[in-house]
Amino acid sequence: MTYNFVTLADIEQARRRLEGKVVRTPAVQSVALSERLGVPVFLKLEHRQTTGSFKLRGATNALGNLKAAEKQRGVVAASTGNHGRALAYAAGLEGIHAVICMSSLVPHNKVEEIRRLGAEIRIIGRSQDDAQEEVDRLVRDSGLTMVPPFDNAAIIAGQGTLGLEIVEDVPDADTVLVPVSGGGLASGVSAAIKGLRASTTIIGVSMNRGAAMRASLDAGKPVAVPESESLADSLGGGIGLDNRLTFAMVRDLVDDVILLSESEIAAGMSHAYAQEREVIEGAAAVGIGALLAGKVQAKGTVVVILSGRNVDMDQHRHIVCATNQSERTAPCPA
Ligand SMILES: *Cc1c(COP(=O)(O)O)cnc(C)c1O
Repeated sequence: MTYNFVTLADIEQARRRLEGKVVRTPAVQSVALSERLGVPVFLKLEHRQTTGSFKLRGATNALGNLKAAEKQRGVVAASTGNHGRALAYAAGLEGIHAVICMSSLVPHNKVEEIRRLGAEIRIIGRSQDDAQEEVDRLVRDSGLTMVPPFDNAAIIAGQGTLGLEIVEDVPDADTVLVPVSGGGLASGVSAAIKGLRASTTIIGVSMNRGAAMRASLDAGKPVAVPESESLADSLGGGIGLDNRLTFAMVRDLVDDVILLSESEIAAGMSHAYAQEREVIEGAAAVGIGALLAGKVQAKGTVVVILSGRNVDMDQHRHIVCATNQSERTAPCPA
């Protein structure tokens, strides 16, 4: 395959840059899922990454790619979620000033977490669009560099390092399940894995509620979809109508993108906790949820990427309890 976007060589370069800066997370076999599906199932425990998600890989690589003058002026982003956390932390390690813009509707605890990780916080307006306008202004007027969450070659290459580790640790992987939102993770992981082992099937998994990538693939071009709340909040948001990289990479490299209901996502979180003893957020649970729902034809060795663990613990407790309610007598906490 000829690829003009992010190549295996880009990802191998990112890996050298990330050496010693990100955790090389383990891939462990799930006895419960292997038994249930009748094939070996491995879990890539990327939720144990520093800052609680794989986003640290892309953010660290993007910062490593900047010129000295750009590092001097600093970076900016509008993400309040895992990308914001990762960028704040990675910039702190490199001594680069990071500004994270967010609207006044973002909950106080989220704001404080990102501040604690070392970023300067700007609270602007009452919507994500207002926050993005401030980002554009800081780029224009103060010369900060915007680090986008997914549609960027350095971000994709950084996320792709996770794919290199999968091939090393589970060399006979036949099917890899990867959560999809903007598609940075899926693009990088597919470029790495297909570059090394072209026969591997990559299945993207997202949620029914607002699956912009699935809708865009169906339309043959990037389209916007209405957003609604989901347990998989890290999978929310569009892919950008001016998408340059991830739409085409997912289209060409990912074999299928399937969607899950809210209860299937909850079942994935609950299984991870009760059977695997892992706390993961909704976005990270879609791979397990897809297997439990019988939505993936499990042939050969399966690898499931658990992408993050930044979930409100009260919400997590409630979901795990409610999902197992039929087996217990006491009511769940509110
Ligand atoms: C960002 C994120 C995703 C989706 O990654 P994309 O590159 O936007 O597709 C999945 N899981 C978690 C935990 C995330 O933070």
